[in-house]
Amino acid sequence: MQQLARANLINETNILPKYVDEEILQLIVTGSTGEKYLVSCNEYGIWRCDCKNFEIHGVNEETGSYLCKHVIAAINFLQNHDISRVD
Ligand SMILES: [Zn+2]
Repeated sequence: MQQLARANLINETNILPKYVDEEILQLIVTGSTGEKYLVSCNEYGIWRCDCKNFEIHGVNEETGSYLCKHVIAAINFLQNHDISRVD
């Protein structure tokens, strides 16, 4: 899966937990060219990103079915880090 390979190129140091509570989780993911994207997951487990790819592919798909590389990187990050106490 090409997307997964690209996602793995995003180093964990480029992922910054921003906000978390019972309903929403937000992380800032820095892309390969330095741009920052807001990746979020709502209470229903639906992921969103504000990058161009998500805008192009996400809107025409069933909600939550498209995952860009930033979202995949964020999910990878969460598997290795407990961010339940982000202020
Ligand atoms: Zn994205």
